[in-house]
Amino acid sequence: MIYQPQVYKIKDQAMTPFIDSDEIWQIINTAVPSPERVRVIISKSLNKNRLSLQETAVLLNTTDPELIEEIKQGARTLKEKVYGHRIVLFAPLYIGNNCTNSCAYCGFKATNKSIKRVTLNKKELIDQVTALEDTGQKRLILVYGEHPQYDPEFIAESVKTVYSVKSGNGEIRRVNINAAPQTIEGFRTIKNSAIGTYQVFQETYHPETYQKVHLSGKKKDYDWRLTALDRAQEAGIDDVGIGALFGLYDWRFEVLGLMRHVNHFEAVYNVGPHTISFPRIQNASELDIDKSKLVSDADFVKLVAILRLAVPYTGLILTAREPAYVRDEIMQFGVSQIDGGTNIEMKGYTKEGKGDQDLLSEQFTINDNRTLNEIMDELINSKYIPSFCTACYRLGRTGEHFMEFSVPGFIKRYCTPNALLTLVEYLEDYAPAETKIRGYQLIEEKISDIDDDKYIEKVRDRIEKIKKGERDLYF
Ligand code: SAM
Ligand code: SF4
Repeated sequence: MIYQPQVYKIKDQAMTPFIDSDEIWQIINTAVPSPERVRVIISKSLNKNRLSLQETAVLLNTTDPELIEEIKQGARTLKEKVYGHRIVLFAPLYIGNNCTNSCAYCGFKATNKSIKRVTLNKKELIDQVTALEDTGQKRLILVYGEHPQYDPEFIAESVKTVYSVKSGNGEIRRVNINAAPQTIEGFRTIKNSAIGTYQVFQETYHPETYQKVHLSGKKKDYDWRLTALDRAQEAGIDDVGIGALFGLYDWRFEVLGLMRHVNHFEAVYNVGPHTISFPRIQNASELDIDKSKLVSDADFVKLVAILRLAVPYTGLILTAREPAYVRDEIMQFGVSQIDGGTNIEMKGYTKEGKGDQDLLSEQFTINDNRTLNEIMDELINSKYIPSFCTACYRLGRTGEHFMEFSVPGFIKRYCTPNALLTLVEYLEDYAPAETKIRGYQLIEEKISDIDDDKYIEKVRDRIEKIKKGERDLYF
């Protein structure tokens, strides 16, 4: 079937579709990278400016290894200059894997009769959340298949249950969701359960490929999915995450598709999406895709560095789909969030021992099986500040990435101290002795970077309070 773009309504205005394949290909095909041009583009980004689609395409077309190194160095510098060394941690939790769609790349597809279908009941959900809290998690993303059973009321109910679970000093302070597109009414119901970010990935921005890989079910409708976040906005959910599943179509096209989506958001709502995700296809039960578009490690690293330069104030999420060595490399390029201690098997967090992954219980393979504490150790040893901070969201400071980026001193005043305070909580409540020693050494180093003595006193005062038993302190 040939994709027929539809005119749809946003804020009662007729809109033409914002993805035009011909336009994107024309931009890619006419972008010529010369060393001078690449350098000018990198420095534009380092001067805190967004890149145009044309400029991004020049970087995407760069193949000279030395210039690629300069692009990566640019992303590294931007990360250091603007964001400092913080990484926010979260964990995914699968609520149910029933699904009426058949996405060729997904183990949960309706046509897969061998997958074990599970929907957590309330007790099972509480058990999973308790297990997560007992390792120190504070931020979750709940994941759902697309099925009538997972209607907005069900989703809202599960979010509320997660917030209600308290185990020792543990609690989940931010619940994000990754769920099927809803109507505006449905999104309103979900918003009322106090979700953080609503995330939905377009998978591929290329309409014809989209038709090929979405074989049946509601997800076949490209426009319904593409406009999901507009409906979310209209329902008052202004904190949204976009993403593309890399490996379905040309990766350069998908990067420009993501940027086009960002541009649309900025043009219509004056604010870009909160985060961009860039999952790369992994093995899955009954995986059935054309493997010619799979993305190599080298291209993947390059594309993340380019995304960082192209949209310097949007959060970037890198998941445990990727092996530790890819994650450790890519983190330097300005990733803001990673998952840690991830287990995506249904009811996986209460399973005894790590064991082998069971592809019949999960959507796809993950390649970073480290525990949360192993990840914490790695981050601390590499001088990153692991953060479980939820302050902006709790104080209604939305657009936090934009503020981090554009408000002078924001990171020093809020993000770094808050990251340190959540690290102290982790060290006091969950860390083994060795992690605790190194964690406090890192905290001392990072406190001395704050250049305001009065502020240092305030941070130290809160750290002492946490050591004495207070929790959930933030600026
Ligand atoms: N059912 C919801 C939907 O389709 O929007 C939830 C999505 S799914 C549980 C989360 C994301 O995982 C998908 O949007 C897709 O990008 C990604 N995904 C699916 N199959 C994958 C695979 N084999 N490898 C890596 N990521 C995959
Ligand atoms: Fe269902 Fe989502 Fe998997 Fe598609 S990606 S089959 S919609 S769970």
